[in-house]
Amino acid sequence: MPFMDNSHKLQLSKEEMKQYGYQVIDTIVEHFDTENSKKPVSLASREEMDLLFKTEAPEEPTNYKEVLDFVTAKVLPNSSIVTHPKSYSFVPGPSNFVSVMADTLATGFNIFSGGWAASPAAAELEIVTMNWLLKLFKFPTKKGGGIFTSGGSMANLTALVTARRQRCGDDFSKAIIYLSDQAHSSNIKAIRVLGFKKEQIRIIPTDIEFKMAINKLKNAIAKDRLEGLQPFCIIASAGTTNTGTVDPLNEIAKICKTEKLWFHIDGAYGGAAILSQKGSKLLKGIEKADSVAIDPHKWLYQPYEMGCLLVRNHKWLSETFTEKPEYLRDIEGNPSEINFYDHGIQLTRRFRALKFYMSMKTFGLSAFKKAVSYSIDLAEEVEADLRKSANWEVVSPATLAVINFRYNPIGKNYSEKRLDAINQEISKRVVDSREALLVTTVLQNQVVLRMCLINPRTTFEDVKDTLKSCEAFALEII
Ligand SMILES: *Cc1c(COP(=O)(O)O)cnc(C)c1O
Repeated sequence: MPFMDNSHKLQLSKEEMKQYGYQVIDTIVEHFDTENSKKPVSLASREEMDLLFKTEAPEEPTNYKEVLDFVTAKVLPNSSIVTHPKSYSFVPGPSNFVSVMADTLATGFNIFSGGWAASPAAAELEIVTMNWLLKLFKFPTKKGGGIFTSGGSMANLTALVTARRQRCGDDFSKAIIYLSDQAHSSNIKAIRVLGFKKEQIRIIPTDIEFKMAINKLKNAIAKDRLEGLQPFCIIASAGTTNTGTVDPLNEIAKICKTEKLWFHIDGAYGGAAILSQKGSKLLKGIEKADSVAIDPHKWLYQPYEMGCLLVRNHKWLSETFTEKPEYLRDIEGNPSEINFYDHGIQLTRRFRALKFYMSMKTFGLSAFKKAVSYSIDLAEEVEADLRKSANWEVVSPATLAVINFRYNPIGKNYSEKRLDAINQEISKRVVDSREALLVTTVLQNQVVLRMCLINPRTTFEDVKDTLKSCEAFALEII
């Protein structure tokens, strides 16, 4: 035996594992129970973090409990709490406890979710949950398909690889892709990853409501055709991250049909709104897309990481991503037994479907529907409240639970430059107080405060409370 002890087995004893596991669970439950009374914002510099953590890889072991205690005390508190009711910025990640435990189980058993042969139940649950989503989005359930990804960025990338394969084959030197100036940056990243040149991208301006300007889109396509180029794909947004705006999906669908273009919809932010009545009305036309990206780790309450791509025809995915090395030959199986490594980029994949499955089963679809509707209503209530105030101006109305506004008291007539500075400073003071995460965005050259209210545990009182702090800060500033 080359080793004197058993350390090379990387194991704890059964008793140690239990103690460790119980402490981890206790820590998570305590966090769920007390997070609302914590401050959502964490601020720390590189120097401070280096001081806490910088070290060489430790050659020698440390007592397992000591490591866990250190992480609990130092690592976990130095992250912003995106599940906090006053975490309004970017896109919050409201999460839910059942899915957290599901992820723990999936990781605990280290389930390989690549092929049917390795874990038939994991593949089956991905098929089952994908069918739930296909039905919700009114996609063909027999022919349709999809895959869970790490997030919306990967879902968009997977969609665009598929679109290019289906429409351009190997030569995409003349292919042109269209998206609006409000489209999410992950789309441009994906286009760049795919090797398109800048000259192959058309950024279509948006109208005053932040929707893709249809006339400008039509002009761009016509001009490209005249130049002998090959328009091949339009990316529409179903809920832009900035304002929640949905592009005119039905009109874009029509253009895609007549021009024979691939219709991709980035619904990573707003797609989940299909669960509510108001949302599904706004999202009309989404069912006409060739592919839709959604992001369960946002508004479907899953912990990171979980994105999803839906396609009208599952064969498009297998035709794009099947690549058989010799060692995978023996596990082909029956075609109905899907090997998800043939439907996307990853071979080895974690078991993402489990959390979606377990949380849906536990809470029921109706609870998810109520949660999404609640947030859309809450944002509308906030809008009505802001409009009644002499201090606030609504810059973009509540849309799919996003609202943009700015401090602009009537009668003061501050210059645009001054208003930008005031609102920027309000955000800075709120964030510095760490009581709420509220940052700015820029809309039509104005610095505005943006609230994304998709956390079903955020109350109207939470928002009122934050707005009151903003007003108090404003009085200090002006
Ligand atoms: C968040 C978002 C993405 C990117 O998704 P990730 O999960 O962060 O990778 C893409 N598009 C839109 C509209 C988004 O809101």
